Amino acid sequence: MNKRITLAAAVLALGVISCGTPQEKETADKTQTDSTITQSDDFKYTVDRFADVRIIRYQVPGFEELPKEKKVLLYYLHEAAMAGRDIIYDQNYRHNLQIRKVLEAVVMNENEIENKEEFDELLVYTKRIWFSNGIHHHYSNAKFEPGFSREYFTNVVNEIPADQLPLKEGEGKEEMIATLAEVIFNPEIDAKKVSLEDGEDLVQTSAVNYYGEGLTQKEVEAYYENLPKTDGPQPEYGLNTQLVKKDGKVVANTWKVGGMYTEAIENIVKWLEKAKEVAENEQQKLAFEKLIKYYHSGDVHDWDIYNIAWVNDTNSRTDVINGFVEVYNDPLGYKGSFESVVSFKDMEATKRIEAVGKEAQWFEDNSPLMEEHKKKNVKGISGKVITVVAESGDASPATPIGINLPNNNWVREQHGSKSVSLGNIVEAYELSSKEGKSSLTEFAYSEEEVARAKKYGNTASILHTDLHEVIGHASGVINEGVGTPKETLKSYASALEEGRADLVALYFIHDEKLIELGLIPSLEVGKAAYDSYIKNGMMLQLRRLEKGEQIEESHMRNRQLVAQWAFEKGAEENVIEKKVKDGKTYFVINDYDKLRDLFGQLLREIQRIKSEGDFEAGRALVENYGVKVDSELHDEVLKRFEDLHIAPYGGFINPKLVPVVEDGNVVDVKIEYPMDFKEQMLHYGKKYSFLNVQ
Ligand SMILES: [Zn+2]
Repeated sequence: MNKRITLAAAVLALGVISCGTPQEKETADKTQTDSTITQSDDFKYTVDRFADVRIIRYQVPGFEELPKEKKVLLYYLHEAAMAGRDIIYDQNYRHNLQIRKVLEAVVMNENEIENKEEFDELLVYTKRIWFSNGIHHHYSNAKFEPGFSREYFTNVVNEIPADQLPLKEGEGKEEMIATLAEVIFNPEIDAKKVSLEDGEDLVQTSAVNYYGEGLTQKEVEAYYENLPKTDGPQPEYGLNTQLVKKDGKVVANTWKVGGMYTEAIENIVKWLEKAKEVAENEQQKLAFEKLIKYYHSGDVHDWDIYNIAWVNDTNSRTDVINGFVEVYNDPLGYKGSFESVVSFKDMEATKRIEAVGKEAQWFEDNSPLMEEHKKKNVKGISGKVITVVAESGDASPATPIGINLPNNNWVREQHGSKSVSLGNIVEAYELSSKEGKSSLTEFAYSEEEVARAKKYGNTASILHTDLHEVIGHASGVINEGVGTPKETLKSYASALEEGRADLVALYFIHDEKLIELGLIPSLEVGKAAYDSYIKNGMMLQLRRLEKGEQIEESHMRNRQLVAQWAFEKGAEENVIEKKVKDGKTYFVINDYDKLRDLFGQLLREIQRIKSEGDFEAGRALVENYGVKVDSELHDEVLKRFEDLHIAPYGGFINPKLVPVVEDGNVVDVKIEYPMDFKEQMLHYGKKYSFLNVQ
C-alpha cells in the first residue's frame, strides 16, 4: 500500500497525487497568485545546495496567531518528534549512527583541520548523510561514494580524542576507524539500502537494519507465516520489530519502552505525556493516551486502537503523526520507519477543498462521461490542508507533500482515514523554484505565457491537485459484472486511472463553475493549467529519464498519453502547435476551448475503457501515446536542463521552536527560521542523540 506523495524531483508538472505508486509532486515552475500567498515576500527559501540536493526553508503562516496553549502543545509534539530522530538512522543501516556521530565530531573539529579541499568533500558527504538519514541515497537507495580518501578519513578521525568519539563498548579507536572505513569506502559492502531485484534474496541484499545478520528472506517469510494470528481484523504484524537470529531461532526485538530503542522511545513518551495534559479536547487526549499505551506495550493491536482514536480526532486544530508508519524501506514491506509530522489545520485552504467536495455531484452530472458511466451518488473524498510545524525521521529533510493514513486497510474501511496535503511545504517548494533560473522561462514560448504562469500558476497547480484528488478518483462507475481495473486492465490500470483523474481536473479547471464557486478569479487559471500540463507532458518530464529509456512510471505515462493524444487529435485544427525558435522546441496552445473539448473526449473514452474493462483499447492508448520517447526531443530537454543547473531533489530545514518559560512552565512559544542546514543538523545531533551505538 502506498498512500504517500513524496517530493522528489524538482521539475515537475501539474498534478500530483497519491494513488497507487510512490509519487512525486510535479510542478512546472509556477509562481504565486495573490490569492494563495500567505507568506512574506522577502523570505529566502533556498539556503544550501550540494550534490543533487537543495535545502529549502519553509514558513509557518498563522503560527503566531494561534492561542498560546496550542503553541505549547505543538512545542511538546515537536520535542516528541525530534526524540525519535536517531531511530531512523539505525533502522536504515546498522552503521549509520556511528558514522554520523564520527563525522559530526570531525565537522565540529573543523578549525583544527588543514586539508580544506578534502574537508569540503567530507562535509558534502556528511550533509548527504543528514539529508538521507544514512549513507544510502534517499531515493535511489545506492550507497554514497565519498569524494575524499580512506587515508584522509583515517587521519582526521585519528586526530580526535577518543572521548569525543562514539566508540562501542570495548571498541578501540583504531578498530572503529578500520571498520567504518571499510563500510564507507568499499563499494561492495551493503551497496543498496533496499533491493527489489527480482530473484534475489531481498533480505540479504538489502542493507536496512530490519533483519539481523545471517537471516534469509525464506526464514523471514516462514516466521510470518507461522506467527500465531488473532481472530478478527489483522493488525500490521511485524511493523515495529527487528528480526534477528538467536541460537538458530528467529526472534523479534520490539521497538518499545523497555525494548529496542527504549532510550529514544522513553523520550517520545515523556513529551507525549506533556502533550496529553494540554490536549485540545477529549478525543485528542484519548489518541495521545492510546499512542503512549502502544509505545509501552509494543503490541500492534494497540497501534490499531490508537489509529482508530486518531482518525476520529477530526475537530482538533493541531495534529501529529508519530510512530513506525510507512513500510517502503523494508523490501518485504513489514517494518515501519519512524517518522513524525507536527501540524495544524490551514482553515482557509481546507475550506477550498471542502467547496469542491460539496459540489461533487454537480461535477459528476456535468462531466463528459457517458450517462451510464456516471455515479448517481458520488461522494467527494474529504481532505484537509495542514501547515507543518516540524518533521522528523523518515519525513525529514526530504518530505512527503501529501499523506493518507492509517495504512491498515480494515481500519480505513471501518473507521475512515485522514488525507492531508502539506500546504506550507508545497508552497515553499514552489516559491523556492522561482529563485534563480527557472524552467518556466526556458520552456514557455511567449511572455504572455510566462506572465500567466506567474500570476495564476500556483492557484492552477493547487486546484488541479484538489480536483484530481477530491472528484477525479471518486468519479465514474464500473459496469456490473466487470472486474476491478487491476484485474481487467492489469499493468495499464494505474496509468489509465491517473490519466482519468487528471482529465477530470483538466476538464473542470477551465469551467465557469469554478468562478461561480469563488475558487478562481478567471479562466486564465485554466489556461495556465493547460500550458503547464502540455509543456510537461510533451517535454519537461523527459528530463527524469536517462538517454535511451522509455517511459515506465505510471504518472509519467499518463501525462504523456494525455498531452500526445491531444496534440495528435487536435493537429488538423492546430489546437496545439509545435514551434521551433533558435533551435529550441516549444509547444504552444492556440485554442484552449478546443483543447478542453479534446480532454473531455479522452476522459469519456478512458472511463469507457475502465467501465467495460476493455484491456485492448487501454493497452493501445498507453502503448501508442504514453510509452515511447522522441529521442531527439529528449536529448534537447536534457541539454536545456543541464544549462539550468536545477537540483533534482529538495529537502527542508525545520523552523526552530523556542519555548518561553515562566516558573518552570512553558507558557508560550516563539518561532524562528534558521538559515544554516549544517548548524541545525549538528544541533539536533547534540540535543536529540538518545541512542548509543551498539
Ligand atoms: Zn491520482
